[in-house]
Amino acid sequence: MTAQLFVVATPIGHLDDMTFRAIEVLKSVSLIAAEDTRESAQLLKHFNISTPLTACHDHNESNKINQLIDKLKAGENLALISDAGTPLISDPGFKLVRAVQEQGIRVIPVPGACAAIAALSAVGLPSDRFSFEGFLPSKSSQRLAQLEKLKDETQTLIFYEAPHRILASVQDMQAVFGADRPVGFAREITKTFETIKKMTLAELAEFVEKDHNQQKGEIVVIVGGASQEKDLEQDKLDALLKRLLQDLSVKAASQLAADLTGIKKKIAYQRALELTNQD
Ligand code: SAM
Repeated sequence: MTAQLFVVATPIGHLDDMTFRAIEVLKSVSLIAAEDTRESAQLLKHFNISTPLTACHDHNESNKINQLIDKLKAGENLALISDAGTPLISDPGFKLVRAVQEQGIRVIPVPGACAAIAALSAVGLPSDRFSFEGFLPSKSSQRLAQLEKLKDETQTLIFYEAPHRILASVQDMQAVFGADRPVGFAREITKTFETIKKMTLAELAEFVEKDHNQQKGEIVVIVGGASQEKDLEQDKLDALLKRLLQDLSVKAASQLAADLTGIKKKIAYQRALELTNQD
């Protein structure tokens, strides 16, 4: 008698991104577990889906699991959806999926939109290796500590961020990862005010601060991984500057380092000063 649980992705903005299979599955199951039944009711109405909804969110997921498993064991096919995108991706559903799977019941994904993947596919940062970091802590001290742990990560890093925290988060990212780290900004993907940009963290902080519209809507921030090449270059520059500083002034050492390596004199001077202060 055992039936199946379908984990169904829904659009993250543009309703045309609903898949044919998602509609078909949601029409065919006997009950849909949804994060917010009122929100999902609108989606179902749009696609003429009359399947009943039941709430399954962070606060009741544990209690709901047994009821849903009983239904599955009784032969009812069920679906899980979230407010937008793919369930379980910074959304509820993990406990349900784990419990259902532990009962030997089949869990079937019905793939579709996911903001992280949509953003990664369009911002122009390396996509061969990436780490999905979800939401950063809301408190700055905890956020900085979390970013510090990720500072040397060479994979591309994907963050979700709330509009009222975007400026503070980007400023913290700049403080920890450095002003020049490349970053992708994907806002309101698939919606009217879709904005997809790639720049440096310093440029993004300025862009978001100056244009308040960039502090609205839904946002994915994608940070390029720490560059191993750059670290190597930095090590070489440091070694050269340290040697030159043994015999020359900061000004002369940085001028010579700039002439020899081709880097900007201002950058060499700044680094020479830092090295002098470290000693
Ligand atoms: N499960 C969803 C998914 O598959 O992407 C994510 C849900 S999470 C609660 C909501 C966050 O996802 C937003 O705060 C934002 O960071 C990101 N997000 C969702 N829709 C988006 C969109 N259309 N454009 C940009 N970011 C979006």
